[in-house]
Formats: sequence, C-alpha cells, structure tokens
Amino acid sequence: TADIVPQAPEDPLFGLMAAYRKDTFAQKVDLGIGAYRDDNAKPWVLPVVKKADKIIADDPDLNHEYLPIAGLQQFTSASQRLSLGADSPAIKEGRVASLQTISGTGAVHLGALFLSKFYKYSGQTPTGYFSNPTWANHGQIFDTARLSHKTYRYFSPTTKGLDFEGMMSDIKATPEGSIILLHACAHNPTGVDPTQEQWKQIAQVMAQRRQFPFFDTAYQGFASGDLNKDAWAIRYFIAQGFELCIAQSYAKNFGLYGERAGCFHFVTAPGSDAQSTITRIASQLAILQRSEISNPPAYGARIASLVLNTPELFAEWEANLRTMSGRIIEMRTQLRAKLEQLGTPGTWNHITDQIGMFSFTGLSEKQVLKIREDAHVYMTKNGRISMAGLNSHNIDYFAKAVDKVVRE
Ligand code: PMP
Repeated sequence: TADIVPQAPEDPLFGLMAAYRKDTFAQKVDLGIGAYRDDNAKPWVLPVVKKADKIIADDPDLNHEYLPIAGLQQFTSASQRLSLGADSPAIKEGRVASLQTISGTGAVHLGALFLSKFYKYSGQTPTGYFSNPTWANHGQIFDTARLSHKTYRYFSPTTKGLDFEGMMSDIKATPEGSIILLHACAHNPTGVDPTQEQWKQIAQVMAQRRQFPFFDTAYQGFASGDLNKDAWAIRYFIAQGFELCIAQSYAKNFGLYGERAGCFHFVTAPGSDAQSTITRIASQLAILQRSEISNPPAYGARIASLVLNTPELFAEWEANLRTMSGRIIEMRTQLRAKLEQLGTPGTWNHITDQIGMFSFTGLSEKQVLKIREDAHVYMTKNGRISMAGLNSHNIDYFAKAVDKVVRE
C-alpha cells in the first residue's frame, strides 16, 4: 500500500490559518476561520458557558463514565426542543430519533451514512444535491459515506444574493426522491438565505418531487440573535409533513468549537406507523454510532445541556447570543458604510443583506491573493470573509485595503 497512496492536498482553510500564524506583520488580519472573535480579535468564552463550567466542576457526583450510545439524554431532548420548537407535534407524537454526535460534522456524517445504507427511492440510492457553493466539507463527508452528490444553483455573482430562479429550476429538475441539503440559516459560505416566502416555495417543489430535506443547522441564534427565527425553515418543513433529518452544531452558538457538541435528528412523517418506524430507525442509527465512535464525548454536551435545561442560564445564553450576533451585524453596517464613503467601485449592499458568520465579498481569487500579499489580510480564495474577524481596531484598515485592491 505504501506506494499506491497518493499525497492528498492540504485542507485549504487549515492551510490558510497556518500561513496567518507564520506572518509577522503587526497589522495582519485573520478573516479565514469561522470562529467568533471579540473586539480585540480574541476567542470569546461565553459568560454563560463559564458559569455552567463551574457548576459542573463543583458537582461532587461528577465522573468520567461513558455516556450511552445515543449520548446524554437530557441534551438530546433539549436539542430537539431547541431545533424543532418546544411545542413541536413531531416531538409530542414521538416521531423524532436523536443522537448526540461529534458536533455538526459528526451529525452530517451520521446522516449521510444512514441514508447511504438505508435510503432507497425506486430501488436506487438517491443522489445528494448541495447548494453551489456549500460548506467545503459536505462533499468530502458524502464521499466518505459513498453517497453521490451534485449541486443546485444558489448564489448569484451579479446580485451577490440568492439565485432563486436558478435554485428552483435546478431542484425541480433533480430526480424524484433526491436528497436536498439545505442550510437552515446563515448559509456558509455566502451568508445568503432564502426569505420565508421563498422557503415556502422550495418546500412546495420538494414535496411535489418527493425529495428528502437534509438540514444543516450550525448557526441557530448566532445568525439573527433569535433562536426561533433561525429555526423557522426547519419547523416549516416539519409542519408540511416531510420526512427529514437535521444536523445540529453547538460549535458557534455556544462557542464550544473544540468540545464537539452536536446532535443528529431524524424526523419521520406523521402517520399511524410513525412510532414503530422511528424505533427501527433509532436502532439502526445506534449501530452506526456504536461502530464509528461507540459513544460521544461528554464535556461539551454537559455544558450545553445544563444551559438548555435551566431557564435562568438559557436566558443568559440568549443575551450572549445577542452580543455575538449584534457585534457581527454592527461590523456589517460599518464595513458597508466605510466602503461607500470611500467610493469603492461596485455595490456593497450585499454586506448588510447577508447574514451570519460570513460574507461573500465578491472579491476575485486574484484580488484575494493580492490583498494577502500587500495588506496581510487573510481570507479564503472564494472571497469569503469571516465577519467576526473584523473589529473596531482593524475595520478601517480592512476597508482601505479592499478599496485599494478593487481599484487596481
Ligand atoms: N455545517 C456548516 C454549514 C458549517 O458551517 C459548519 C461549521 N463550519 C458545520 C456544519 C460543522 O461544524 P462543527 O463540526 O464544528 O460543528
């Protein structure tokens, strides 16, 4: 085997981080990785997480035993309520199977693996369709699970907004029963989301085509600061009676990046046999989980669970979410205003129209490389910037660097 294993390329995002760390220029700016930073460009441990951490550490009964295969039950049930809504009929009717996973990545992986093994439409394993572009890991995860994948149109380079017509006509054209991967909110990498009216139309077409929605939700509460608003699309689809799955991450909204807290939910359609179906599905998911990770890591789930299940901590978490989303929205407002003041060629309304961690600036690969070389500003080649990398100390510098590179 030694001779036949080819060298794989370096992960572009982690490569970018390494290049940034090596750079010794004092005013360098990191807009690469999707992790929240405070106004001093430092990672922010949410105050509510610090509090929960202390409560857990002081618990005399704490031990380091294995969690069950499906994870911490209080965590998975609170995760259901957070995503589906506390009054969700799907929860009440017992048609949701939930497993704690290795953050959102593990949830996407578990879902892909399950669909690859069990999901058939007219005897065939359907193809997965991703927005073009999508989170860079989706394709790799589906490859690993041996699920084929293609794309549907999503982003319009002209408007730097949603290509809704392209999206609708591509989804209509996919074979019946296809898996359609949808970002529940704060689309990565573009920051462009459908409106509620557009989501309704997407759901209608997908119901006609008997398609399977696979929701990826990595930014609930982090996008708008409102947990319910950011879960609207998922809840709407469930209300329409879809069978679907959800990959939920707590990396961004709890700042628990490295603790790998996430959850996978499979929701069956309403009906008299829904409960027996979900029992069978849960049993198979448990076997997949057991063979992959045996049982999930406890620490991050304990923190999230304590916050989700304690009303005062939950309220404090919502305030922390508003701090993060509010700072990002403020950076969007300021960046747009500065570029417009500078008279930078082009339109910049997309900076404030887009939502969540990222903005697709519209800078070309050439401009991205130039701004890295000249101004030591690091962003991915597709022109995506992590809004959280901007702060009151570097936003002027960044706006001027963009202005310069656009004029060159
Ligand atoms: N999906 C999307 C769209 C994401 O942006 C991310 C985070 N970059 C994830 C899933 C999962 O991340 P994690 O495994 O850290 O939860």
